[in-house]
Amino acid sequence: MGDQRWDMLRCDSCGRSSGGRSGQRSIACRHCGSSSLTIAESFDNAGQMAQAVSSANLPPEIRKEVEDALSRRPELNPSNGGAIRPNPVRMIQSAAKDDGSIDMELLVREAVKVGVDEDEVKRWIEVSEIEGALIREGPGEYRLL
Ligand SMILES: [Zn+2]
Repeated sequence: MGDQRWDMLRCDSCGRSSGGRSGQRSIACRHCGSSSLTIAESFDNAGQMAQAVSSANLPPEIRKEVEDALSRRPELNPSNGGAIRPNPVRMIQSAAKDDGSIDMELLVREAVKVGVDEDEVKRWIEVSEIEGALIREGPGEYRLL
């Protein structure tokens, strides 16, 4: 990470936000070219800064929608950055046998390898079932749709 910090800057002329490295001189507004910018917030991660800037530039009603979507799907949120999140869908698919049934033992075994415990795997399965990606065929037996 180092000690590089990133600023979100708000333009005093057009009110929109831009991003840049902290301490950078003579940065201009990306939108109107004004050099009259105020630091709105500092980040130690360029991804978080970029996300804050794009969210600040969204119209408020869309911003809310995007934030809601990200809070429901944390794996899509770049500010969770750093750690590589396992991809539940991909893992469930790779644990499916040729006939589409899920090898739950294999799935749990593979999940544990990437630091996901069995309860979390069960949660994935529940969510997949709710979302219609899986059907339950019996106790502990699932099939991909
Ligand atoms: Zn501007």
